[in-house]
Amino acid sequence: MIYFVGAGSGATDLITVRGARLLGEADTVIYAGSLVNPELLSLCRTDARIFNSAVMTLQEVVDVMRQTEESGGMTVRLHTGDPSIYGAIREQIDELKKLGIGWEICPGVSSMSAAAAALSAEYTLPEVSQTVIISRIAGRTPVPERESLRNLAKIKATLVLFLSASYVREVRQELLAGSYTEETPCAIVYKASWPDERVVRGCLGDLPKMAEEAGITKTALIIVGDVLGDDYALSRLYDEHFTTGYRNAKD
Ligand code: SAH
Repeated sequence: MIYFVGAGSGATDLITVRGARLLGEADTVIYAGSLVNPELLSLCRTDARIFNSAVMTLQEVVDVMRQTEESGGMTVRLHTGDPSIYGAIREQIDELKKLGIGWEICPGVSSMSAAAAALSAEYTLPEVSQTVIISRIAGRTPVPERESLRNLAKIKATLVLFLSASYVREVRQELLAGSYTEETPCAIVYKASWPDERVVRGCLGDLPKMAEEAGITKTALIIVGDVLGDDYALSRLYDEHFTTGYRNAKD
């Protein structure tokens, strides 16, 4: 059995209880060495075989999984954050299907959640934005043209950009071509939940300057939207004049 496990965003106690248990049981662990906190490996059995996928190809990863399976062992494939977001798990699952090997996925705390916590932000504020767009600027991996940042920016939702911290000039330019303005609040969150986490806040117009002054080029999220500003409406859920499934309105 192969377990794809979300390691969480960085802090070692942000892995789930289930993920930690699986890590402690695994015969083989293949971890994404570029972003997974290596301290998590202390949860592994002392006799576990440990591989860093940062230096492996897809074929090499699948070969290690297959060998472990053939010897009756269990593999944990440890991905950063939550595996469903830029995790490259689909291509591994499709190889496992071909080989008739079973898998299961254990979710994790994505860096987008850890970044919201660092910002004390709610991504979905009433009457500001009820939509979160997760995306990235095109880099070496292309993005379909209809999903270009300038197209997404027309919606003016809350935007969480992965894999884009080294393209801040392009991000600014693309977003200003949509509905955001120079004054739209934005933030860069570097290594959310790690001991050396850093948060930089500002306006979209200053995004390149913010990144440059902080020296941030990677392992960061860019968050853009009016939810980082001061204006919003109170929620209906806790409004005393509003009846919910659990509580009647007071008048
Ligand atoms: N599956 C991961 C994302 C993997 S893509 C998740 O759910 O978080 C890798 C990108 O994620 C990085 O380039 C960076 O943009 C972002 N990232 C990962 N960990 C981060 C962290 N702790 N703080 C800020 N950004 C992070």
